[in-house]
Amino acid sequence: MFASVDVGGLNTGCALATRAGNMVAERTIPTQAHEGAQAVLGRIADTINEMATEAGGHVRALGVGVPGLADYHRGRALFLPNLPGHWRDVPVTDVLAARLRCPAFLLNDARMAALGELWYGHGRTVKTMVFLTLGTGIGGGVVIDRKLRLGPLGAAGEIGHQTILPDGPPCGCGNRGCLEALAGGPALTGEGVRLMTSGQAPHLRELVAGDAGRITPKNMAQAAAQGDAAVRGAIVRAGRYLGIGIANVITVVYPELVVLGAEVAEVGELLVETIQREVRERVRMFPIDRVRIETSMLKDRAALWGGLALAIARAAKLPGHPESGEHPDAALTIDCPDR
Ligand SMILES: [Zn+2]
Repeated sequence: MFASVDVGGLNTGCALATRAGNMVAERTIPTQAHEGAQAVLGRIADTINEMATEAGGHVRALGVGVPGLADYHRGRALFLPNLPGHWRDVPVTDVLAARLRCPAFLLNDARMAALGELWYGHGRTVKTMVFLTLGTGIGGGVVIDRKLRLGPLGAAGEIGHQTILPDGPPCGCGNRGCLEALAGGPALTGEGVRLMTSGQAPHLRELVAGDAGRITPKNMAQAAAQGDAAVRGAIVRAGRYLGIGIANVITVVYPELVVLGAEVAEVGELLVETIQREVRERVRMFPIDRVRIETSMLKDRAALWGGLALAIARAAKLPGHPESGEHPDAALTIDCPDR
């Protein structure tokens, strides 16, 4: 059996599956990140051990995704900005491998979701794909010839940190005007708060009972549908920025498929359609009628599926395994077999 863990700010998903990709157990536990990295990792190991005992199997390898900068090659979390303590240089795979007595592999959660979509979702039938996640941050993954591009640290594919506006708002990465600073979850809800408090969003005010802390991209979309024109304008603006960012990536990579993560679909049709329209407007150098733009087939479990793919792919590369002969670039990519 193989195991997967998707560490989130609030909840952590855990799963066990067979090599053939049949999920045999799944559990969600509260992350309780305020207790610190050691406590969180200990709880994850206990949960996976319990699940394996109940399923009557042995875990051969584990894939873990974390929200932020993670050194894929050394298995260490380097900076998780949305978790207390930020997990600076935490040896995630060493801790979990020791507790679970099996090899463990670490990846940024957006890259892990891209891998999941490639192995088990819409990506199964394509060679080249771009994946974009929209949450507190905007993450991504780029797949070329069925290889997920990782690069040093496994940090390639940071679609959210391309500059869209040269003198735009500051971004958490240190740059200004990044896609994430303009169209990430906090940018969008921040605009919702501004519109509500300035009296331009009566429906939104009603939906959240005047509580700014309850504003989400999803209820902003509801308010827009009910007639809040200014809120609709904010969503369309975010969609245009996202479309420009995706168009830039399409121009460089010319993928067959762009997959929008579950959170984009959850905001609703207005955002998805705006992104699709903006992409068509912006890519002019070549025809893109064959570039499909889809929302994730695996929805909010793409990263969990990706952790299984990571465990299976990496276990196959361990010394002593018949398929372990590696190309020199293999450390910078994760292969996916043709399907
Ligand atoms: Zn940035």
